[in-house]
Amino acid sequence: MRPDVRSAAHKTDAFGELVCSNSLKSEQEHSAPWLLKQEMRRLDSLLMRAANAARVPGGHALTVDREMFSAEITRVIEEHPNITVKRQEVRALPDEGVVIVASGPLTSKPLAEEIARVTGVERLFFYDSISPIVAADSVDMNVAFRASRYGKSLDGSDDYINCPFNKEQYNLFIDELLKAESYEPHISEDKTPFFEGCLPIEEIARRGRDTLRFGPMKPAGLDDPRTGRWAYAIVQLRQENQRADSYNLVGFQNHMRFGDQARVFRLIPGLEIAEFVRFGQMHRNTYINSPALLLPTLQLKTDARVFFAGQISGVEGYAESIATGLIAGRNAAAVADGRDPLVFPRATALGSLCHYITAADPRHFQPANITFDLLPALDDDAKQKFKRDKKARHAEICRRAETAFEEFINANHAGVYCQVSG
Ligand SMILES: Cc1cc2nc3c(=O)[nH]c(=O)nc-3n(C[C@H](O)[C@H](O)[C@H](O)COP(=O)(O)OP(=O)(O)OC[C@H]3O[C@@H](n4cnc5c(N)ncnc54)[C@H](O)[C@@H]3O)c2cc1C
Repeated sequence: MRPDVRSAAHKTDAFGELVCSNSLKSEQEHSAPWLLKQEMRRLDSLLMRAANAARVPGGHALTVDREMFSAEITRVIEEHPNITVKRQEVRALPDEGVVIVASGPLTSKPLAEEIARVTGVERLFFYDSISPIVAADSVDMNVAFRASRYGKSLDGSDDYINCPFNKEQYNLFIDELLKAESYEPHISEDKTPFFEGCLPIEEIARRGRDTLRFGPMKPAGLDDPRTGRWAYAIVQLRQENQRADSYNLVGFQNHMRFGDQARVFRLIPGLEIAEFVRFGQMHRNTYINSPALLLPTLQLKTDARVFFAGQISGVEGYAESIATGLIAGRNAAAVADGRDPLVFPRATALGSLCHYITAADPRHFQPANITFDLLPALDDDAKQKFKRDKKARHAEICRRAETAFEEFINANHAGVYCQVSG
């Protein structure tokens, strides 16, 4: 498409352009992003090789010189004898042959409409802001309490963690929220409006001091067990995953600077020492409802010659987009060659990422970064063994992933499906 038709965020004509930060996230051993990148390295990912060659100092993160990174990817693709590069806007999916759709979060309109038509939805999901997520064990349960509004819950349990404010705490919170700085929208010319049902909280707060208290911070129906009464305002935390080790701040989508989010949200009673697993963010995003549409091989259920990869497949982030591209690419090559596409084991980071985007609840599907939440929980013995040691738990999940990965490679590669390094 580029350079003739430009997206609102890309600045160059090169492949693999990193549109915002130049970080492919943590390289810290036994972190989830590290595990994902290790698996990609084992599969001899071109983009991981390019990233390593273009690495610049960035603490624990894999931070790259973005120009070197994309120049190397562009060079390899353009020089590859089996690849013909056509720089044009694709407006319809080809009728025959194996196809990978990887047009990203800023897929151009004609193609987005075509994908919506092919997948039978009215339009693709436009997902403009996300709420922060905190680690469950960093919430002070001496302050916060569990309850469902008016005791209503599917199974009668207290589904939410509630952080109660008195009037003074609420006023201080609103004052600081109004002072916080927001990121400029990434795409200044993008006229996508805020969805009224999904307004950033700083925008709601600007509409009136009490607006939040009658909106996402409504205390009604939530009896604080310590007072027996409703608080002045409440922030509700909703369980993020089956393991219940992380919770999102309900209705707290925002696009404040990360430092300001940490500072302001730690004013929430019970979150004074909260560890943020993810901060709130906002940008225009186009993705398909993968759990309803894709197989774990990343093929379209209704047309197995069509694969989806990258952000449009429902993952979030550079490394995750690269990962799904790698899997879709390898599987597409297998199909083109008359072989079966493969599903990576659930215990691996690659397998868990594909599992999430194809097995999540399609009614509430939201794109995800790789985190340990996506990988299967440890068994009870291991949980008990590493009870008080989160690092050891993560190391154990990585060890288990590595074993499953190696078994999978040994069973499947033999130079056929997986070209592996090392
Ligand atoms: C503004 C913005 C900022 C982001 N910042 C970050 C960040 O800092 N860190 C992070 O990890 N993730 C970030 N993301 C999320 C995401 O990880 C990146 O967008 C990532 O580049 C997605 O990779 P991709 O390959 O799926 O899509 P892209 O890298 O966008 O590649 C898709 C390509 O398809 C092209 N294309 C689109 N439509 C057509 C068409 N009809 N025909 C032909 N070509 C087409 C596009 O021009 C583009 O070259 C950001 C997303 C956005 C929108």
